[in-house]
Amino acid sequence: MTTLRTTTSNAGETHALGQRLGALLLAGDVVVLDGDLGTGKTVLAKGIAVGLGITEPVVSPTFTVVREYDAPTPLVHVDVYRLDHLQELHDLGFDDLVGGEAVTVVEWGDRVSAALPSDRLRVLLEPGDGDDDRVVSVDAAGMTWGDRRAALADALTGSDSGSDSGSDFGARDG
Ligand code: ADP
Ligand code: MG
Repeated sequence: MTTLRTTTSNAGETHALGQRLGALLLAGDVVVLDGDLGTGKTVLAKGIAVGLGITEPVVSPTFTVVREYDAPTPLVHVDVYRLDHLQELHDLGFDDLVGGEAVTVVEWGDRVSAALPSDRLRVLLEPGDGDDDRVVSVDAAGMTWGDRRAALADALTGSDSGSDSGSDFGARDG
């Protein structure tokens, strides 16, 4: 399977990338965001929320683990950074939320791979050459991404990326 890759140069570009990704997402999609602390997973998730049409502010779920946002296609935003046991995720009702009407975005999702459907979009954020550069790699595992691969490639190379640069999309946690 091909990995699609792009580099963003600031938080605004990552947010804009998330927005383009969010516009492609459908009910039931699962997006896993991986990468070290501070690489921009929450920034990307905030962009995805905007792409889904969510207008309320998206807050990092590091301490709550799961937050839900209402929209025609709702968002379930999960951060498993502080989770000690997979069972906690089940106890939070995660299994009933994932793959249903909502789009599920899971920060540090690789850690809970066993609890996620194999059909998922995997996004990895890694530091790039410059301080604010992030290399974003996207793997579309599973069948539901077959038809959307071209659109996904377009989203990654979006020409309007960076138009929001200068805004502060940063989070102070997770
Ligand atoms: P994570 O959720 O991965 O721990 P956050 O999204 O909370 O990370 O924070 C990323 C931090 O890095 C923010 O303070 C953001 O402003 C900063 N940043 C700098 N350059 C970028 C970039 N290219 N993409 C995303 N965030 C960036
Ligand atoms: Mg985070």
